Amino acid sequence: MKLAGKVAIVTGGASGIGEETARRFAKQGARAVVIADVQDELGREVASSICRPITKSVYVHCDVTQEDQVKSLVHSTVAAFGQLDVMFSNAGIATSSPSSALPSLSSSGPAQTVLGLDLEAMDRVLAVNVRGTAACVKHAARAMVEGRVRGGSIVCTASVAGSTGGRGMVDYYLSKHAVVGLVRSASVQLGEHGIRVNCVSPYVVATPMALRGFGGEKDAEWVESTVGVNMSLKGVALRAGHVADAVVFLASAESELVTGLDLVVDGGYKGH
Ligand code: NAD
Repeated sequence: MKLAGKVAIVTGGASGIGEETARRFAKQGARAVVIADVQDELGREVASSICRPITKSVYVHCDVTQEDQVKSLVHSTVAAFGQLDVMFSNAGIATSSPSSALPSLSSSGPAQTVLGLDLEAMDRVLAVNVRGTAACVKHAARAMVEGRVRGGSIVCTASVAGSTGGRGMVDYYLSKHAVVGLVRSASVQLGEHGIRVNCVSPYVVATPMALRGFGGEKDAEWVESTVGVNMSLKGVALRAGHVADAVVFLASAESELVTGLDLVVDGGYKGH
């Protein structure tokens, strides 16, 4: 029970990596897991399915681009459960083009290249991935400082796109580089308060976001086998559970002196 007694928030917890991580938090003995998302029906289902005798789980509607909603998410968590120990700031979106997820694998060509950059679309990606993540880090850290929480841990979801470049998706790559920069700065500033700040950086996981990026024509099996050729650890499909395990490690006391880390979970992605 690596998270026994802990109170955690998971943004983007209604689906994909966030959902799987919320389930693992509960399995690891968290006292409370708050699912925050904009997909209300899915979020409620996830929360009710992970409730167990030692873990309470509730769903809170929270659009992370709206600072007042993030502030209220954190306040309501502390009001209901007494403190906040773990913030998993994971909500994110990819370039809103059907050909976006992996430009090199897309049939319709790269989206959001520098030469064709749609700045309005870029603003939407940055609003969720950068502004939203910054708001979550800010309000979680404030609650941890004010509550004098011992061993507070903030984990953000970056990506291999946070340390590489690509043939398209400039906005997504830019946003994930920003997440890594935010984590590094926050880890330096919050260390004196005993708060650790790290990120996980997955390669492609066949979540709804990734599938949408392939234009909706591909299924999880296709994504896992196709992107797997880019990993050195062939034959092992990268799944949300692999990322969730890394998040549990960063959230728990097992990583007591780990801060400012970009923990890459990519099976040896060749471009990294
Ligand atoms: P997903 O679409 O399954 O989950 C993302 C969740 O974020 C969804 O439930 C969505 O409703 C929520 N969300 C989106 N905008 C939001 C907002 N404004 N406020 C609150 N919630 C919002 O996708 P996923 O793959 O699980 O993505 C989770 C994170 O992982 C993202 O940050 C993504 O960039 C990152 N990531 C994913 C992959 C991948 O291949 N799937 C790879 C690297 C990084």
